[in-house]
Amino acid sequence: MDDRIMSTPKSREGRHTGLRALRLGIAALALAPGLAVAAPEPAPTPPFETCRTDLIAWAAAHDVPQPVAQAQLGGLEPNPDVLAATRNQGEFVRPIWDYIEASVTPARIEAGQRKLAELATPLAAIEARYGVDRYTLVAFWGVESTYGTVLDDLAVVKPVVRSLATLSCGDPSRAAYWRDELTAALQILARDEAPLDKMPGVLTGSWAGAMGHTQFMPTVYQQHAVDFDGDGKRDIWTSATDALASTANYLRAHGWRFGEGWGYEVVLPEGFDAALADETTPRSLAAWRDLGLKPAHDRAIPDEATQATLILPAGIRGPAFLLRPNFAVILRYNTALAYALTVAQLSDRLRGDPGFSRDWPRGDRPLSGDERRDLQSRLTERGYASGGVDGKIGPKTRAALRAYQGSVGLPADGYADAALLERIRATP
Ligand code: CA
Repeated sequence: MDDRIMSTPKSREGRHTGLRALRLGIAALALAPGLAVAAPEPAPTPPFETCRTDLIAWAAAHDVPQPVAQAQLGGLEPNPDVLAATRNQGEFVRPIWDYIEASVTPARIEAGQRKLAELATPLAAIEARYGVDRYTLVAFWGVESTYGTVLDDLAVVKPVVRSLATLSCGDPSRAAYWRDELTAALQILARDEAPLDKMPGVLTGSWAGAMGHTQFMPTVYQQHAVDFDGDGKRDIWTSATDALASTANYLRAHGWRFGEGWGYEVVLPEGFDAALADETTPRSLAAWRDLGLKPAHDRAIPDEATQATLILPAGIRGPAFLLRPNFAVILRYNTALAYALTVAQLSDRLRGDPGFSRDWPRGDRPLSGDERRDLQSRLTERGYASGGVDGKIGPKTRAALRAYQGSVGLPADGYADAALLERIRATP
């Protein structure tokens, strides 16, 4: 089982939207032009009652006491809002900068700095134990739950068991994933690990089942949550210290390298070949320097042998970033690039670093789902394999796009916006 915290397994389809995202009404987090993706097609589903009975039997056979499974699932009705939320994912198109700027606000930076001061002692202990810096941890916390403030909003917080049962029965393409998360949630309840006083007897989380201050899915909770404040409970719902330590434990387990940071913004030299920003080819920081890349803000680069990849999330006219290995660890939390850049940017700002130096190409319009499919089919017609016409612009589509752009003398940045689509439509 894939154990990404907020993300659908083996998928880059927008993640399970977290609490904060729900509050903002962002069903599809995000996705920069080129990153947005389509929701799976709804498929016929068996009657909920039949499915619910099967789930009770499944849970009882998987380490959940029958009375707990019966009490939690018997008589449960599906939550239509949850299925609507899954179907809305992906068709929503929002430029990457909108997403980042909605999340990295002055208020969130200030609140995070207050948290850094308030929790300086436990954060220092967590850093020492897990080797993940406090700015990164507090940034995850800020992005996931606005430092826990949304957990008090009963209009946003949902009963996790009901959400996961709804998804297990109503989202057949990922039914096994949801069922395993549901089973884990029931096990958490059976072991009396979570405080249930907010809604008596009810485990709370986002519509997709992510729980607590840093939004762990139930299986991730089971594998990575820790009791750091020493009260005997792994309480990510009401103990910020436990939640932050649990996130540190998760990041360490996925290879976080202490002291390296996620990467940094760079300034490209005049005439830079955008095709080098292919998001997959690592080069040493020294090699990137030799290609003319300079850090956007003054900084010493003491470890020039470290490998990094170059990305242009909004094409050659937007900011460029060198990503070090820790960035991939952030993506383990949520596979959306916009999400990871948001956490990265918030962590920098909490540390006192300035914002991005280069502005985004704000006049660009991202493509809708239909337009993305149109672009893919036009690329395919021209002999550039886009990896399918599915409206999901991933690495293959971006590679096809770079090849096309190169062939017509455009900067090969793999960036798909309305102007690019117009161009490809206008030429035979
Ligand atoms: Ca605890």
